[in-house]
Amino acid sequence: MTTYNAGKYDIAVIGAGHAGIEAALAAARLGCKTAVFTINMDAVGNCPCNPSIGGTAKGHLVREIDALGGEMGRAADACTLQSRMLNRGKGPAVHSLRAQIDRRRYSAYMKHKLELQENLDLRQAEITDIERSENGTWLLTTRMLGVFEVKAVIIATGTYLGGRIFVGEASYESGPDGIFPAAFLGDSLRKLGIPTRRFKTGTPARVKRSSIDFSELEVQEGDEPTTPFSYDTLEPLENKVVCHVSWTNENTKNIILDNIHRSPLYGGKIEGVGPRYCPSLEDKIVRFADKKRHQLFIEPCGEDTEEMYLQGMSSSLPEEVQLQFYHTIKGLENAVVMRPAYAIEYDCIDPRSMLPTLEFKGFEGLYGAGQFNGSSGYEEAAAQGLVAGINAALKVQGKEPFVLDRASSYIGTLIDDLVTKGANEPYRMMTSRSEYRLILRQDNADERLTPMGHRLGLISEDRYSRYLEKQRMIAQERERVEKTVIAPSDALSAILVSRETSDVTTGVHLIDLLKRPELNYEVLTPIDQGRPELPAAVFEQVEIAVKYDGYIKKQLSAVENMRKLENKLLPHDIDYKNIVGLRLEAQEKLNAVRPLSIGQASRISGVSPADINVLMIYLMKLRHGRAQDE
Ligand SMILES: Cc1cc2nc3c(=O)[nH]c(=O)nc-3n(C[C@H](O)[C@H](O)[C@H](O)COP(=O)(O)OP(=O)(O)OC[C@H]3O[C@@H](n4cnc5c(N)ncnc54)[C@H](O)[C@@H]3O)c2cc1C
Repeated sequence: MTTYNAGKYDIAVIGAGHAGIEAALAAARLGCKTAVFTINMDAVGNCPCNPSIGGTAKGHLVREIDALGGEMGRAADACTLQSRMLNRGKGPAVHSLRAQIDRRRYSAYMKHKLELQENLDLRQAEITDIERSENGTWLLTTRMLGVFEVKAVIIATGTYLGGRIFVGEASYESGPDGIFPAAFLGDSLRKLGIPTRRFKTGTPARVKRSSIDFSELEVQEGDEPTTPFSYDTLEPLENKVVCHVSWTNENTKNIILDNIHRSPLYGGKIEGVGPRYCPSLEDKIVRFADKKRHQLFIEPCGEDTEEMYLQGMSSSLPEEVQLQFYHTIKGLENAVVMRPAYAIEYDCIDPRSMLPTLEFKGFEGLYGAGQFNGSSGYEEAAAQGLVAGINAALKVQGKEPFVLDRASSYIGTLIDDLVTKGANEPYRMMTSRSEYRLILRQDNADERLTPMGHRLGLISEDRYSRYLEKQRMIAQERERVEKTVIAPSDALSAILVSRETSDVTTGVHLIDLLKRPELNYEVLTPIDQGRPELPAAVFEQVEIAVKYDGYIKKQLSAVENMRKLENKLLPHDIDYKNIVGLRLEAQEKLNAVRPLSIGQASRISGVSPADINVLMIYLMKLRHGRAQDE
């Protein structure tokens, strides 16, 4: 078969899923001539699972992607069907946005964004081979035998690489939603020296709206007012749909347990490891045997479709068994299944083979992002795609790499967890994964990241001046509440008594009232005459900063300590086997991960604080030795 020279690019992105889109847009927006390849042009930005963006901790990631100049937040706002702030009843650290989106409109939005982007070519082509050329560039061969020569490559192949579908006894090679898989690139990567492993994930059935009896189901409405993901969305979003809640029951459970032997998962046909935090229904019934029922949400997939998504009901049991157990569920007694539930197994890599820039160690100019790196979720994928795209562009332009640490963002936490601790199952972001969650809130993502996005060149001047104006308003309002003294009055006493907090007899600073857990801006409105007209987001920022001042200061000092350890860099060429005093397990783990700093070394599982002390002493001796040599 004769290949032909198909042309040159600075950067090639393999995959136009959630990771590939952010990577390609970032690289092109930073001035690199970029190509993004996809197996099927009509599945750009496809959501093969839940028709929603965001959720607990995932909402934080979307806000951070937007604050840095990524696209997902704007796309989600443009395609929102319903918006809800989750965990409102809890502290601000776990408030998380989630939007039901129109799945087809989202794909069309992202496809058009890629098509319109300067410096970027969206191409339908399956990459079957990747190799290094003599002059150090990368050569990508397509199934149509075109060879592209590029300076850097980002692999974001998602669940397509070696994709295999499982529905009961039925199993065949495929990507999601009936799209063919990437059947060849996996072998080429392994030949290049990049080992892969098998992970799996699953999705529930889609059923026809008119076949569902909603009459006795609980309705779940969107928030009023809504909160957008993007700082670029200045108009309030409209809730256009509702979702419905139902429950499984004893019959559902019995059908599944009676047929569990026909599950490819429990029958041992699926070798791939699945996500613990997105379990299939059969998994939930087996693992939580004492639970009488499991909740499901019936969610619209779009405005121009009758497909309804059964959130929480993913399965890989035979289709006939799926029909039986779905029909036991209230509202679904006569459900018509439009797409059956299925599991998909695919190739991915061990992310510990990467640097925090998402470049492969030992493979200059080769990057990975998304599901390919061992994560799960649109938001996790998009976050990695953005960072990989930025770094590939900086690499090609000979500039300093861009690394986000754990104290800057959930994106930094996600990537550090992947490249330092690895992932034994598809990695899903959760707020509990961050030790700094009070300062990494979804509401202050712009404060933490927009200046960086602006320095990189991904945030427009107009957006940046709006950001600076907001920061100016926050500082001004903070000063006002610090300086404002509220005189004792009947109105104030009435508020304090009604909120069961101690009354005052002398003037009190507004900030001290705001600090009280029983009080907030809303409650204090009647006595806060001098309050200026400011955006709700400004009051939210000030209220959180005032109420959590002590905790935030404590976390900021922990951040300082962490950064001190991050700045203690470790030489790249250490053979940890030669360091006396290090335990065997630590020697092996350190040689495998090759951490960049003492900070990163301290987060590797199996490296104890005692090992870190040994390393610190070793570093001091090394510096001392070098000082003597000089
Ligand atoms: C069945 C199923 C169930 C899921 N369930 C969940 C869940 O419950 N929870 C959750 O968080 N996430 C779930 N996901 C995962 C979620 O879909 C992914 O996390 C997300 O889509 C990953 O984004 P990505 O950009 O890494 O890859 P994808 O969105 O999969 O995109 C991959 C892209 O790469 C392209 N591509 C692949 N190989 C090649 C090649 N060789 N040449 C050219 N183009 C190529 C494809 O065409 C596609 O454009 C599920 C996914 C599937 C398929």
